[in-house]
Amino acid sequence: MPADPIAIARNLIRCRSVTPDEGGALSYLQDLLARASFDVYRAIFAEPGTAPVDNLYARIGKVAPNLLFAGHTDVVPAGNEAIWSHPPFAGELASERLYGRGAVDMKGGIACFVAAALDYLAAKGGKPNGSISFLITGDEEGVAVNGTVKLLNWAAERGETFDHCILGEPSNVEVLGDTIKAGRRGSLNGTLIVSGRQGHVAYPERADNPIRGLVALIAALQAPLDEGSEQFSPSHLEFTSVDVGNATVNLIPGEARARFNIRYNDRHSQTALKTLIERRAKAAAGGRFRYAFEWQPSNADVFVTKPGPFTDLAIAAIAEITGRQPKLSTSGGTSDARFIKNYCSVLEFGLVGQTMHQTDESTPVQDLVALTAIYRRIIEKYFAG
Ligand SMILES: [Zn+2]
Repeated sequence: MPADPIAIARNLIRCRSVTPDEGGALSYLQDLLARASFDVYRAIFAEPGTAPVDNLYARIGKVAPNLLFAGHTDVVPAGNEAIWSHPPFAGELASERLYGRGAVDMKGGIACFVAAALDYLAAKGGKPNGSISFLITGDEEGVAVNGTVKLLNWAAERGETFDHCILGEPSNVEVLGDTIKAGRRGSLNGTLIVSGRQGHVAYPERADNPIRGLVALIAALQAPLDEGSEQFSPSHLEFTSVDVGNATVNLIPGEARARFNIRYNDRHSQTALKTLIERRAKAAAGGRFRYAFEWQPSNADVFVTKPGPFTDLAIAAIAEITGRQPKLSTSGGTSDARFIKNYCSVLEFGLVGQTMHQTDESTPVQDLVALTAIYRRIIEKYFAG
């Protein structure tokens, strides 16, 4: 009997694995994979100030190439459960759809790649022509400190190597097969602080209003950063907050701040970007204003997986099952692919993202069937080559 992705997805949804709780989801997968002769490991990571998080790594096969499937079983909270038309942790089927928190992000995706691998192994007498691995974290939706980063580190220390990875995040925009994510922009947060001299508003000559400098610098920093690159749209700096914190009507404040976020493409590194911003500020200030930048540490570096044999293989598998020609996209927010790319080339392909994080998160049952077939074709093609 072929492995049933719908049953696996329903069982996973029934586990209340709201970050950072494991909720039984990893234990369920561990049991399922151990029965198919995978070596399964659990690793709990902790750090002061964060909740400990349970993670899973499983592998079958001892030789290269090692095809890795990655994902997360943790989910965001359901919000007001009473307004869901089907309870968020019941895994109910209605009108050919599967409902529940995590249905698309991303217990559904995990169910599909696990079912596809089990199917492939059953057809191959239990042995892949190489290795298949699963790297499943319980900390993606939270601060992402005790999850994929540490799990990859842990695996590397054990001598594990990966050749290619599919991350099963909901990558499709409208319909299954429309989009593979082959990169993500980087993200960097900063604060611009302009210092002045506090004083009475009636005697501005005795004060130095930092708001003047802040306005000039904000204007200068909004100039375009680039014109985009082959695989990316232009980088973008957006101010998110302007703060003086002055509740007094007759006081010139002593300091003014503005926070901003930059989503940047592969034309920049974090260091080069900081230099560019600081140079522009210096030119705009022209020695008239005292200012400083505070940069928040960022682990969200830009990454891109260039078109090549691996992307071709995934595109062909998707086209065979869905009849669609997926585009390689680099839009959207960050994901754990930003960490995986340091170990092997990674593509993101999963369900359709439309209802992720929403009330009544759900996926067509047909998409679960088709996605399983796609992963199955990817595995077949991967090990046939
Ligand atoms: Zn996700």
